[in-house]
Amino acid sequence: MSSVNRRTLILGGLAGAGATVLTSGTAHAIGYPFTLGVASGDPAPDGFVLWTRLAPSPLNADGLGGMSSAGVTVEWQVASDEYFTSLVRTGSVTAVQASAHTVHVEVAGLQPGREYYYRFRAAGHISQTGRSRTTPAAGTSPAFTMLFASCSHYEAGYFTAYRRMAEERPDVILHLGDYIYEGTASTTNVRKHAPVSEITALADYRVRHAQYKTDIDLQAAHAAAPWLVVWDDHEVENNYANLVRGDTSPAGDFRARRAAAYKAYWEHMPLRASSIPVNENMQLYRRVRWGSLATFHMLDTRQYRDDQACGDGTKVCAAAGDPARSLTGAAQESWLLDGLGQRLGTWDILGQQVFFAQKLASADGAKSMDAWDGYTASRDRIQRGWDARGNTSTVVLTGDVHRSWASDLMLDYSTQNKIIGTELVTTSVTSGGDGNAADTGLSSLNPHVKFFKNLRGYVRVHVDSTRMLADFRVVDKVTVRDYPVRTIQSYAIEAGNPGLVTP
Ligand code: FE
Ligand code: CA
Repeated sequence: MSSVNRRTLILGGLAGAGATVLTSGTAHAIGYPFTLGVASGDPAPDGFVLWTRLAPSPLNADGLGGMSSAGVTVEWQVASDEYFTSLVRTGSVTAVQASAHTVHVEVAGLQPGREYYYRFRAAGHISQTGRSRTTPAAGTSPAFTMLFASCSHYEAGYFTAYRRMAEERPDVILHLGDYIYEGTASTTNVRKHAPVSEITALADYRVRHAQYKTDIDLQAAHAAAPWLVVWDDHEVENNYANLVRGDTSPAGDFRARRAAAYKAYWEHMPLRASSIPVNENMQLYRRVRWGSLATFHMLDTRQYRDDQACGDGTKVCAAAGDPARSLTGAAQESWLLDGLGQRLGTWDILGQQVFFAQKLASADGAKSMDAWDGYTASRDRIQRGWDARGNTSTVVLTGDVHRSWASDLMLDYSTQNKIIGTELVTTSVTSGGDGNAADTGLSSLNPHVKFFKNLRGYVRVHVDSTRMLADFRVVDKVTVRDYPVRTIQSYAIEAGNPGLVTP
């Protein structure tokens, strides 16, 4: 089919659905621009964010995606059906080079608790169709399914887990950080990073984000449901803490590097304008209510933290318990405790990055100083805070460690006194490569830690007003494409009765 005929067909189809027809002068002035797919995020009762980026040549080294300096009009449509026979909202925005021709549309005016479909059109090209949904109205508590994932290293394997997540048709997907990795390209992995050097400049972060989003399995997961995203370290640099860099290479101004990384992150994620970064600062922690059933407290455990204690390893020193040190920063801590105290829904879900429960690594007390074990006073204030406020249905969702874990959260870990919450830790999408189902990670040092598995995958959680049912979903290999997914362990968590139980 010639491009002219295809264009006529596409425009005809849209015109039939009641859309305005583009002027012919702009049609096909650029190559197919929707190479990075579409996404939606941060749902509310009346809308959500729609995202796309115009990038006919997504890996161009200048990070501009093959676009000129001209602004380009992008039309968007939201329909109540996937064939776009019933349009409910339409509009247009101008994509500009200052934000790498990314598009963020905050749709409002929709009905609560409903599924919607969306697509874009620019320069005569039509995007893929995405599926999203609004959250239920306050006061209602319909059951829903969420998936959560983290640690998706492009080189370490294929994004089969993302494909399987799309196939689950969940109501919402959480990504808990390490969405990209900043390192130098590998010579031995199944795929190879672009650009090849460790990324530090805005153009390089843009190319890296674009490369990840060229993956069709990731595109499928974004198109399947609205996402709630928070970052960890690798969106900027391994194990950075606030403005303290993780290592000295490459040299350069870390403040400028963080500003570049945060800008590229905002550009490529379906986030609201309230998160637009200002220099090296970006407001990422936020609350999203799911009716009166659940409240997501999405945390930022990188931007405000004190530097890792004791040299950022597993060696423990007194600083790890210093009450003056914080993982969240004081402002985020009071925002979290205030939100927990509002008791907005049956479940309080903390979407965050690093291992929350105490995890002794050896009899001499070694623990990870990058995780909450390196900030024990900070953890204690938050745990005691929700316990004191009567929150009995608090569930912490975690990424970062490239293994599946599940734990009871204890008011006092040393005496194992009182279960006050539950932690579910997702394994990686790919990071670390193929796992090993025979690995063992449980230890009598940590009796509150109940489950460990070293395979790649994600976690699926069915949520209703009486319980959560969590399924650890795994694939046996990621270095080979298209493995099936299976549930390797399930737990229930009862509302009002914290801790893991057999379903
Ligand atoms: Fe990771
Ligand atoms: Ca990490």
